[in-house]
Amino acid sequence: MSDCIFCKIAAGEIPAKKIYEDDLVVAFHDIRPVTPVHFLVIPKLHIPSMAELQPEHAEVMGRAMTVAAQVARETGCANGYRTIINTGKVGRQEVYHLHVHVVGGPEVLPAMVKY
Ligand code: AMP
Ligand code: ZN
Repeated sequence: MSDCIFCKIAAGEIPAKKIYEDDLVVAFHDIRPVTPVHFLVIPKLHIPSMAELQPEHAEVMGRAMTVAAQVARETGCANGYRTIINTGKVGRQEVYHLHVHVVGGPEVLPAMVKY
């Protein structure tokens, strides 16, 4: 998708503070962090939202989740974190390229908040 900001980050066409990259996914710091640790994991493939996931996306999404856990360990989320995927209008999704938010401590997070 030529006009998708996260496709451009995946392709290295616009800068991002990348933490991890492999053949399928990229992890990078959120530009407006809401907690001391706040990064995103995206598939390199343009999937607009979780609502479009199909069985053939199982490998890339499995990778996204395992990379989220690995990067969380490496960024000091020893006591836990929250993992969020905002989907569509109801989910208040702002960037329509599927992404997993990881937000973490050191403070215990509020019970319910939008990231
Ligand atoms: P949402 O689509 O509501 O799940 O949120 C999109 C997230 O992407 C927000 O937390 C933004 O701060 C973040 N974001 C938007 N543009 C960039 C960017 N260029 N680099 C890093 N994070 C971004
Ligand atoms: Zn995209």
